[in-house]
Formats: sequence, C-alpha cells, structure tokens
Amino acid sequence: MASRYLEPEIERRSRAVMTRWQSQRLREQVRHAAAHSPFYRRKFKAAGVRPALIRTTADLGRLPFTTKDELKENQAAKPPWGDVLAVPLAEVLRVHLTSATTGRPLAFLDTREDWHGFYHSYARSLYAYGVRKTDMVMAAFSYGPWIGYWSGFYAAQDLGCLVFPVGGLSTDQRMDALLNYPITVLGCTPSYALFLAEHAAKKGIDLAKDTKIRITWHTGEPGASIPATKARIEAAFGARAYDLPGLTEIAAWGFECDARAGLTHVHEDYCYPEVLDEQDRPVGPGGRGELVFTSLYRRAMPLLRYRTRDIVQVADRRCPCGRTLIAFEGGVLARLDDMKKVRGIIVYPRRIEELVRPHAAVDEFQIVFRRHAGLDEIVVRIDPSPSLSLAERTGLRARLEESLRTGLGLRATVEITEPGALPRWDHKAKRVRDERTEVPF
Ligand SMILES: [Zn+2]
Repeated sequence: MASRYLEPEIERRSRAVMTRWQSQRLREQVRHAAAHSPFYRRKFKAAGVRPALIRTTADLGRLPFTTKDELKENQAAKPPWGDVLAVPLAEVLRVHLTSATTGRPLAFLDTREDWHGFYHSYARSLYAYGVRKTDMVMAAFSYGPWIGYWSGFYAAQDLGCLVFPVGGLSTDQRMDALLNYPITVLGCTPSYALFLAEHAAKKGIDLAKDTKIRITWHTGEPGASIPATKARIEAAFGARAYDLPGLTEIAAWGFECDARAGLTHVHEDYCYPEVLDEQDRPVGPGGRGELVFTSLYRRAMPLLRYRTRDIVQVADRRCPCGRTLIAFEGGVLARLDDMKKVRGIIVYPRRIEELVRPHAAVDEFQIVFRRHAGLDEIVVRIDPSPSLSLAERTGLRARLEESLRTGLGLRATVEITEPGALPRWDHKAKRVRDERTEVPF
C-alpha cells in the first residue's frame, strides 16, 4: 500500500526529536531576527530580552508577542516594507498582500527558501487529503497579490500534479473546464464551492456526475471545518472536502487528514504553535485559547510569537492516521475579530453558520446585528430554496428560530427573503453586517 504520508519521518516524529528540532530552529530564528531585523532588535531591547537566553521552546514565554497591528504600523511608518525585513531586498523573491477587511493590507515578503517552505508544507497537506501526482488540479482562487492562488498552484505542482491555471477565468469558463478536462481535485473558498454548486444547478449541471472531481480543499474561511457546510459541499461535488487553515504571515499551517477524525494537524516543524488562555498562559490538552505561532522557517520576515486572533482547542486524543503532529479539535473555532456581544452574550458568526447550514432549504444567509428601541438584536436573513412553498417557508422560519434560540442562548429574528435576494460570494463571503458600528451612508 502506498504511504499515506508525504514525509513520514516528520509526520510521525517522536515528541523528543521534534522538540529538539524545533528548539534548534527557534535559536537560529531568534539569533537571525536579533542580528538582522531592526524591528525585532527594538522589541527585544524594550522587553529586556537577551536573545542568547532563548535556548529551547520552553523559553518562548520570555519573548514579547508580535501583532498584525504592529506590523501594519511598522509598514506605515517605514513604507513600503517596514524594518521587520531581515534579509537584503535582493534576496527576496515574492510579495503577497494579506486580504485586509479594513485599512491597508500588510505586504509580506519571502526569500526563495521561505516560499518553498510555504508551498511545500501546503503540498504535505494536499498529500494527506489523498492528492497524488496522477491528479489534475484546479486552484480556483483569484489571481492577484493574495497568497491563496499561488500557494495552492505551487503546492499541487510540488506534488507533480497537472495544474490547470484558472486564476483569471470567470465562473462559466471554470465550469467549462471542469466539464471538459479530467480535473479530479478542486481548491477554493467554501463560499465559492457553494456558489459553484448553485451556479451548476441553475444550468442543469450535476457536478457529482458530470465532473471527475474526487477531492476538494477549502481555505480562506473556516467553512470546511463546519460539519454541515462540509456535508453540503461533499454532496454537491460527490467528493471528499477538506479544510486547510492558513495565514499569509505564517504558513498553510494545518490540515485534516484522510482519517477524517475531525482533527486538524499542525505543520509544527514549520511553525511552532502555542495555545494561550486569557492570561496568556498555555492551556493543556482539551483546553481552548488563542493560537500564537512562531515561524521556524521564514528568513525574510521571521515572526516570533505572532498572535493569530484565532481560537483553537488542543486535542486530547490521537488521530487514527498515526501522525504525531500536534492537533486541534475541529480547525479554527472562532476568530476574536469576529466576536460580537449581544445583550451581554458573546456570539460568533461561525456558530450561527453551524446552526443554519443543517437546514437543507437554506440556500444563502446573512447575519445582521442592529439596535432597535435601545436593545441589541440579531436578525438572520434566509434566502430559501426556490422550491419552497409559502407554508414551508413559515415552517422553516419557526425551526430556524428554535435552533438559534437553543444554540445561541438568546433569541434571534429570522426573516425569509425572496429566493435569490441575498448576495452570493465568489471569494470570501461577507455575510455579517453590524449596523451598530457601521457608519450609515
Ligand atoms: Zn490524522
């Protein structure tokens, strides 16, 4: 039987060997940052850190955190790259921009080796899904300065797959390619997968029967780690769908393997994860906290203790696949930046998606937070399947209100729109509107 691991020596490494390896890489990274990055030299000085004292991963707690805001401020103050850059510009091969929801995007630079690390760890994830060099792959992300398209394309090519470039193509052109070429693997955001499925259904195309897709992978949004969303994608494509969480500034850092146990493995030889509670203390197995990464491979912008603002839960069970890499339970569970407070209760949009998606008659949805007569309220707008009768719509609304009330612990109002009334998303979705903070226009 062919191996299920691309790099068994790394993926099944003993804890002692992995820790030794990580500690050595950490020492090199800290020394490199202290010697070549003015940004980190200042941070070490301000925190009173002597780089030589950082010897193992157990010493990480002595280092200050790095935040995205800090990096952005640094680039604004010293345009265009900031002085976190720790190699001469001539050594830099690639620039990517983070997809900023507000303000200026962050420009992230990589050397040739940095870039290889990014796409090679990504390739290890694709291999874990079951992608092989005999596959033909379509990475249906947008062509531009965002890392999604490039990393997916290079990762598939790294495995020796035949890669079909579709970055600049329209959805109709992509659909034609899926029907006419033996494309077996598709990568895209989960929103785009659902968009493609709806688009195909309208044209009378059955993606499960009329294409050869057997594996899909999804990044940019957490959808494929939400069971009901994943199930919907798998049904539409007749394929197995996998979640690939990643961060431009760190790595395509995790993957769910073909054992499909609901665990997300971490490429901890590339990026060292810490999971910290609200007082910044490490949580144990089973504990939840903010994920903080230290890059162990990137030389151009060597981020140390980078706060991801993603909430994860450390697994307290082993994956049946036999990998020893650290794993999280169910991917990124929440993003701190998405957190909303309604009548004193914390609400994450991902939780609402978990509650809405199991209702098969929901084609699309939108979440609105607003203040009415001095009280905060949540409105969930539902774009129903066109086949629903008026009576069925009323029943759907009642069932959804009940799911939301028990699932969130507070009442939400459900509004059913006309079919097709809500926007569809061909990249990352923007399903949340907070009218309490948005400036009216
Ligand atoms: Zn596994």
